[in-house]
Amino acid sequence: MNYSSPVALEKLVQELSKLPGIGRKTARRLAFHLISGDREKMESLANSLIEAKERLVDCRRCYGVAENEICPICANSHRDNESLCVVERASDILPFENSGVYKGFYFVLGGVLSPLDGIKPEDLHIPELMERIERENIKELILALGSSPEAESTALYIDRHLASSPVRRTRLARGIPVGSDLEFIDDVTMLRAFEERVRV
Ligand SMILES: [Zn+2]
Repeated sequence: MNYSSPVALEKLVQELSKLPGIGRKTARRLAFHLISGDREKMESLANSLIEAKERLVDCRRCYGVAENEICPICANSHRDNESLCVVERASDILPFENSGVYKGFYFVLGGVLSPLDGIKPEDLHIPELMERIERENIKELILALGSSPEAESTALYIDRHLASSPVRRTRLARGIPVGSDLEFIDDVTMLRAFEERVRV
């Protein structure tokens, strides 16, 4: 800010600008919006943040977001248990669910391999993924890990580890612009990328 703003306001702007996709300008606009509302609304927002943090845990089966031990997707017995879609983050499940293109289960890796940042297979849920594939009757593994070099090499790593496994490994068609996150993909692109998926 180019005027001497109150410390509490500046602090709020700083906190908001730490959120993904929120620049300083947007953070400032949000801060002014928030402080102009009544105390009740502000408290309700603060409480829902704390409540979400306290109540939400990693699903024990897919590592997505759950309120109990198992998330609603994993708890749904009508889904196709022969396909498993591997994603980087829990938020990557949303475009699949929103487009309605996929009826199987998910598995959240919790990141991608990055030797430069010291992220090894054990730091992700890769060992748990391998155990699950061994244990369950999965016929197709969809590697929906995005298109960054790290994501590509993570998909390759998983594929190589399953070289002797009968599980069919596929990946989404290249309808997704390089470097873009899965969460920003529109329904039509998602549908096409899924329908035209190819073998790894
Ligand atoms: Zn789950």
